[in-house]
Amino acid sequence: MTVYRQWFCKCSGKALELVGDPHIEEESLEPTCPRCGATPSSDPKHTISFKDRDNYSD
Ligand SMILES: [Zn+2]
Repeated sequence: MTVYRQWFCKCSGKALELVGDPHIEEESLEPTCPRCGATPSSDPKHTISFKDRDNYSD
């Protein structure tokens, strides 16, 4: 079973989906908020949330 996790940041007042940067080659490639730069492991303002979607229901 594969689950795709969508990350969101609410820094702008509405949920903004985090994006991964394909140009960054690091071990921990995390999705990053394009607006404030928050990531799931670096979320100082607690604006990060996520939603799990499994492949079967799409
Ligand atoms: Zn943000």
